[in-house]
Amino acid sequence: MPTKLNRRDFIKICAGSAAAISLSGYLAPFMKEAVAAGAPQVIWLQGASCTGCSISLLNTVHPEIKEVLTKVISLTYHPNLSAAAGDLALQEAVYKVAETNPKNFFLVVEGAVPTGADGRYCMVGEKDGEHVVFEKLLTDVGSKAKAILNFGTCSAYGGIPATEPNPTGCKPVSAVIKNVPLVNVPGCPPHPDWMVGTLAHVLLYGDLPELDNFGRPKMFFDTIIHDNCQRRQYFDNAIFAKTFGEMGCMLELGCKGPYAHCDATTRLWNHGANWCVQCGSVCIGCTEPQFPAWPMYERMPDMPAGPATSVTMDALGIGLAGVTALGIGGHLAGNVITGRIGPRKKDETKEGEN
Ligand code: SF4
Ligand code: SF4
Repeated sequence: MPTKLNRRDFIKICAGSAAAISLSGYLAPFMKEAVAAGAPQVIWLQGASCTGCSISLLNTVHPEIKEVLTKVISLTYHPNLSAAAGDLALQEAVYKVAETNPKNFFLVVEGAVPTGADGRYCMVGEKDGEHVVFEKLLTDVGSKAKAILNFGTCSAYGGIPATEPNPTGCKPVSAVIKNVPLVNVPGCPPHPDWMVGTLAHVLLYGDLPELDNFGRPKMFFDTIIHDNCQRRQYFDNAIFAKTFGEMGCMLELGCKGPYAHCDATTRLWNHGANWCVQCGSVCIGCTEPQFPAWPMYERMPDMPAGPATSVTMDALGIGLAGVTALGIGGHLAGNVITGRIGPRKKDETKEGEN
């Protein structure tokens, strides 16, 4: 697809854009050009979700969201934002577009896929007088898409709806649809730039951006939070906060920064206001496949292996040979050796358990 913005510059802009740069504002003219030249349409569907990903997209202010949706992204249908609703919208804006443009539209999915009770936990409309469940809509429409963009951790990896006990049988999109290219743009919610940038890439170049092992665009998810955290000096000096509000690294309070991949430390949230650890929270690792099925506010002795973590935290104290390969680096190992961070003891009992 012809565009004046070459792919190398596009990646640099997306990967390098900091809070001061409005990514959607910068990309808008190029996307308008692509849409005018006949870029594929975009359909947005919602399954088991809190709509937070859509709300996050609505935080794109430069240009404002109306501009993004109507002129920048050729968004054909969105359950909350489209004027059309009900039977007509499902027929005309979803099924008809999919049937008349096979393999020539992109499908955005927000939310996990409830599969329990034949999908009846998530009714999304009617077609030909019959109820349509989200699982069927997804397979009908998704199987015809050029690619599916999973926006948010729920559609990407299952997220909160698929966490045990999972009574609705929620699954990630990848467990329901096979043989269609997928991009995962996780986050709970994802940053608006991650969504706009990924959409811009597929609209401008007609193909998928480079992805990591978990299907995430590398241009946004190639860095580990811990490497760029403002509290990193505390970590290096083994100063650990014991309660929220204290100075110090948040590791002991459950920070997943050593494992989490995203660029929030430089991109910042809410138009450059702040990011998760800087505002006093731990990083909850919301972009990782394991989220949220881990103790949110406890240091994890047995962190599931991720792309940059092939051993557990406690194993660091034993298997130091592999430590340089870890995003955590030698500092944590040093702290383990000196006893400043001790492996959690198996027989450690929680206060009040006796
Ligand atoms: S563990 Fe968390 S708070 Fe501590 S330096 Fe790493 S990212 Fe920052
Ligand atoms: S810093 Fe952590 S909690 Fe914040 S968006 Fe990134 S992965 Fe999610």
